[in-house]
Amino acid sequence: MSHIPKLRGHHLICLHFFNGKGYSEEFIKSLRETLENVNRVGFEICKGPDDICRKCPYLENGEICAYDEQSDEEITKMDGFALELLKKTTGTKIKWHDIKEVIPGIFSLWLKRYCKGCSWKGACEENAFYRELRDGKYTL
Ligand code: SF4
Repeated sequence: MSHIPKLRGHHLICLHFFNGKGYSEEFIKSLRETLENVNRVGFEICKGPDDICRKCPYLENGEICAYDEQSDEEITKMDGFALELLKKTTGTKIKWHDIKEVIPGIFSLWLKRYCKGCSWKGACEENAFYRELRDGKYTL
């Protein structure tokens, strides 16, 4: 099998709401390609920087999220909370669809803890899946 993409905890939730926005053209292009790959072959859950972070202008020395002073610590906590909600562990290989299925059941807790204060909230609000989940209108 070709290279299995790697994704860190919080990307298992946030990437469902990607709507073409990102930090740079290169980052967006790589994000799209990774998502296509993830949809095709699934992914492996990793700890720390993943295939999305790799092209991020904020990734420092290939290992630290330097979005702001506290971001590396905050993001690591976010990853942990996401995996706790999804009941998944690092190293697990899984299909994207199988993660998407469990998002509606955990979304209200994520929204309350993270979306409210997130600087990307405006971008996610443009995504129909996000709005349906937020407004309790999502039906399987
Ligand atoms: S801001 Fe941080 S967590 Fe987000 S993609 Fe960039 S390096 Fe990764």
